[in-house]
This record gives sequence, C-alpha cells and structure tokens, in this order.
Amino acid sequence: MKVIVIGGGASGMLAALSAAEDRNNEITLLERQNRVGRKLLATGNGRCNLTNRNAAPPRYPGGGEFAAAALRRFSVDDTLAFFSRLGLYTVTEADGRVYPLSDQANSVVDVLRFALEQANVTVETSCDVVSVARKARGFSVTSADGRKLFADKLIVAAGGCAGKTLGGTKSGYRLLSMLGHSATDLRPSLVQIKTDLTFVRALKGVRADAALTAKTAQGMIAKSEGEVQFTDFGVSGPAAFDVSRAVSCTEQPVTLLLDLLRGTEEEEIPARLRERADRFPDLAAAQLLTGMLNTRLGQTLLKYAKLDPAAALKDLKDDELAKLAHAIKFFALEADGVLGMEHAQVTAGGVCTDEFRADTLESRLVPGLFATGEVLDVDGDCGGFNLQWAWSSGYVAGKLGGGA
Ligand SMILES: Cc1cc2nc3c(=O)[nH]c(=O)nc-3n(C[C@H](O)[C@H](O)[C@H](O)COP(=O)(O)OP(=O)(O)OC[C@H]3O[C@@H](n4cnc5c(N)ncnc54)[C@H](O)[C@@H]3O)c2cc1C
Repeated sequence: MKVIVIGGGASGMLAALSAAEDRNNEITLLERQNRVGRKLLATGNGRCNLTNRNAAPPRYPGGGEFAAAALRRFSVDDTLAFFSRLGLYTVTEADGRVYPLSDQANSVVDVLRFALEQANVTVETSCDVVSVARKARGFSVTSADGRKLFADKLIVAAGGCAGKTLGGTKSGYRLLSMLGHSATDLRPSLVQIKTDLTFVRALKGVRADAALTAKTAQGMIAKSEGEVQFTDFGVSGPAAFDVSRAVSCTEQPVTLLLDLLRGTEEEEIPARLRERADRFPDLAAAQLLTGMLNTRLGQTLLKYAKLDPAAALKDLKDDELAKLAHAIKFFALEADGVLGMEHAQVTAGGVCTDEFRADTLESRLVPGLFATGEVLDVDGDCGGFNLQWAWSSGYVAGKLGGGA
C-alpha cells in the first residue's frame, strides 16, 4: 500500500516508522523544510524534553479526553522502549521530564533519521505540499513545484502554527480543510505573558521562585508554581508558560498574582520583618527584604507597598509591615495578553477532534485519511507532554486503522 506522510516533524517521523512496521507499505515522507525534525532540534532549549513520566489526559488542557486512547495505545513506556530500541539513552529528572542522556536534541533527531533510512522510508525534503484531493481510490498530493504523487492512505502530520521560525505553519489546517475538515480558533500557548510594566520594568532579568495564579473577575483560571522570569514586556519562565494558555484563551481581563514566598504564610511575615527591623534599626527600609528576596525584587515590592525606601527600619509601623507582607504574597500584575504564535511553543486549538476517531486517528469524514500531532486540537502542559502526544498519535496513525 502506498502511504504518504505530510510533515517530517516528531509526529510524522513516528507515523512513518510505525507504518513501516508493515512491510507491505511503501512510505514517502514529505517535508517542506530542507531537513526533517527542525523544530525538534530547538525543543527543551536544545536538550529535547521528549516526554514526561506523568503524561496522562489531565495534562492536556486541550483535547485530553480525545488524546487518552492514543496515549494508552502508545504510552510513555512504549515510547521509551521504542527510543531505546533505536539506541537512544535517556534520563528522567525529578519532575518526570525525560531528556536524552547526551543532553542534545539532535540525538533524538539523528536516531529517528537513521531509523527512517533503515526502514526504507523515502524522505523528500524541500517538498512543500500545497494541495491534497480525494480520488476515486486514494489521494493525490501536489507539491509547490507542481509534482503530483498518489497515495492509498494519507497521514497529515504538518504540525501547528506555533514557532513560526522553526517551521510552524497553518498549512496543515489548510490541507485538511481541502478534504472537508474544520479547525477551531488558534491561540498561542506555552508562551510569554505581557503585563502592565509599572513595576516590572525595573525587574527585567530577575528570576524568582513563585506560585502564580491567573484570575479574572469570575475567579481563578489557572495556577502554577516554579520559576518566573521578569522581562521587558512582562513575565516568562516555566510558571508563566503554564498559565499562558488560560490567559491566551480568555477574552476577560486577567490579573496575575505572584506569591513570592510560597513556603510561608502571610501572617508569619510581619513578625519576621519586625525581628529584622529590631536587629538593624538604623538600616534603610530599602534593605528590609535583603537576604529574603532578590534585591531588585525586594526594592520593587517596597515601592509597590508604598513604603518609603529611605525610612529607617525602626520607624516602620506595624501596618506598613503588614502591607509589605501582603505585597510579597499577592504581587498583582495586570496581564495584557500573550506574545504571538512566533514565540509560542504550541498551538491551542486545531483541526476538530470530533471529526476523527480517537482510537485510530482516522478521519470520520474521509476513510483512509489520518491526522496526527499538533495539527489536531490537542495541546498539553509544558514539560514533555506535547512531544508525547506527537509520538503517541504518530504511532497510532501509522497503524492506518489496523491493530497492534
Ligand atoms: C521552541 C520550542 C520548544 C519546544 N520544546 C518542547 C519540549 O521540550 N517538549 C515538548 O514536549 N514539546 C516541546 N515543544 C512543542 C513540540 O515541539 C511540538 O508540539 C511538536 O513538535 C509537534 O509535533 P508535530 O509533528 O505535530 O509538528 P512539528 O514538529 O512542527 O512538525 C511538522 C512538520 O511538518 C512540516 N510541514 C508543515 N506543512 C507542510 C507541508 N505543507 N508540506 C510538507 N511539510 C510540511 C513542517 O515543516 C514540520 O517539519 C516545543 C516547541 C517549540 C516551538
């Protein structure tokens, strides 16, 4: 059977290798860039966080229920066994994130490339598919240079539109719409959040450990813990990425609340501050949080709480210390949306999953057509979950509706 896979990213390569497990298949992988796995090379800051031991439907705020069947059929263990067979050594970090032992994303791309070669998959790079059409039997696929190819079965693994410079494109949605499929709204996710800069401007470059809550007038919409980085446009870092989807997907004004001393209750803080003030009565208030928080962050919080930085510690009143304690636990920044798709790691939204069978990823509209990876309306948290979806869905789609 002739099989064409459109897209040589994570999911497309897995789909091709999975299809190649049936020797009767003749597989062609078409990739518009001049090499396969270009985005993969940039993942995990060049280290490739290829999966997460905790991958399960709740870690997919977009499409978790739909993703469950594929995540079960080709699980994290299956993924690690698969890569181990390809010769990839991996390490698991404390939070379940898995990386190649080499700490190099190119190790992941290289073992996949070698495997494609070994499995006799024909890989055509610099081949931009511009249209697909259904034939009486199978599909015709046309590339930008006017070439036409025929396939009995077609797998669209063209990815999402996040990370444009790395190949993110809307092409996959367009190709699937040519075959009658529809897509949801597309929003950037796992992306930096823009905020009001009044207090943030002075913090550019500061990193802080925080609990981060995003809320609208209706209440909390997302919560995370970990590193927050202050930038010249707002906040970045893992904790900010984790709540970015919720910020990106709501039309409501959002406030970010940062708890900058997450191990300590608000009520305990004034006594600690008073103790410090008693020990160093003549120090300026500007130094009150020195040793507790990043210096610039401490000084910014002082301003935020409207304390006079020049005042002597001995002159600070109890209500001022209480105000500062509140600022440390509830440092509020008004969000102003998120950066664009070019900065995002993943697309929230995609081709409607109710048009595909969850257990095989075959189209319910067009028999013989499969879609996999980010082009579908599935997206996960930061930490290896999106690549796990790419592997699981790619492997399942490559079975072309059959078992095993
Ligand atoms: C900077 C960055 C870092 C990331 N880090 C991580 C991480 O550490 N862990 C994690 O789990 N996830 C990470 N992600 C997300 C993850 O990379 C993606 O979710 C995943 O690559 C999606 O796989 P995919 O195969 O669906 O799409 P892609 O990997 O994007 O592959 C799609 C491929 O299809 C090709 N293509 C598109 N249209 C056509 C066409 N018309 N014709 C031919 N070819 C076409 C594209 O060029 C591309 O190579 C990161 C993303 C970015 C941008």
